[in-house]
Amino acid sequence: MSSATVLKVTGLTSGYGRIEALRGVDLELKAGQLVALVGANGAGKTTLLRTLSGLITARSGTVELLGQDITRLAAETRVRRGLAQVLEGRQVFGPLSVIDNLRLGGYTHKPDPDRIEEMFNLFPILRTKKDQAAWQLSGGQQQMLAMGRALMSRPKVLLLDEPSMGLAPLLVKEVFEVIKRLKDSGVPILLVEQNARAALAIADHGYVLETGRIALSGPASELAADERVRSAYLGI
Ligand code: ATP
Repeated sequence: MSSATVLKVTGLTSGYGRIEALRGVDLELKAGQLVALVGANGAGKTTLLRTLSGLITARSGTVELLGQDITRLAAETRVRRGLAQVLEGRQVFGPLSVIDNLRLGGYTHKPDPDRIEEMFNLFPILRTKKDQAAWQLSGGQQQMLAMGRALMSRPKVLLLDEPSMGLAPLLVKEVFEVIKRLKDSGVPILLVEQNARAALAIADHGYVLETGRIALSGPASELAADERVRSAYLGI
C-alpha cells in the first residue's frame, strides 16, 4: 500500500476571539489510513475539523492536501479539491428522500448513478429506504446517509466529526463497523471522536488532543495500551 501523505497539518493555530482553541497542531494522514483524533470535551477537536475544512480561518500554520497548500482556500474550493466533511449532528436534508440526499452530495460533479449504486452497496440499509424521507431514518441510518452523501463526490479525504454522538450503543457499534468498511474501501479518514475506545479500536494511528495541543500520538494499538490514555480516556 502506498504511504503517500494525503493530509498534512503543521503548526496549526486557530480560535475564537481571544480564545486560542488550537495551539500549534501537527498531524498527518497517509493514503489508506484511518486516523483517530480523540480528546475530552472542549479539547479543540471540532475546531480542528472546522479549520481543516475552511469553516474557520487558521491564524497560523499550514494545511496541505495531496502536497498542495489549502490553508487559505474557501471551504467550497476545498470540497472541490477532495476534502469532504461530515459535520457533527448528521446534517441530512430531512424532507428529501434518501436517494435525493445522495444526489445532492454529488453536486460538484456530473450526475452519477453508478456512484449511487456504490453507496447502496456500501450501505445496504439505504437501498431499502431509498424513497423514504431522511427524517424517517433512525439516528444510525441518518449517520450512514450523511457519510454516503459526503462520499458521492469521491473525496480524497473524509473528515468525520463525532459520528457516534447521541447514538444508542448498538448503533454506535454499527456505525464504527461502517467506518471500518469505508477505510477498507480505500478512502483515507480522519475520525474525530470522544469515544476513544471505539475509535482507537478501528484506527491505524491516533492522536490525543488536550487543550488545543497534541499531547500524545502513535499507532492506535499502542495508544490504546498507554497508561495515560487508559486512565484519562478509556476509564481504566
Ligand atoms: P466537544 O467534544 O465538546 O465538541 P471539542 O474537543 O470539539 O469539544 P471545541 O468545540 O473545538 O472542542 O472547543 C474548543 C474550545 O473552543 C473550547 O474552549 C470551546 O469553549 C471554544 N469554542 C468552541 N466553539 C466556540 C465558539 N463558537 N465561540 C467561542 N468559543 C468556542
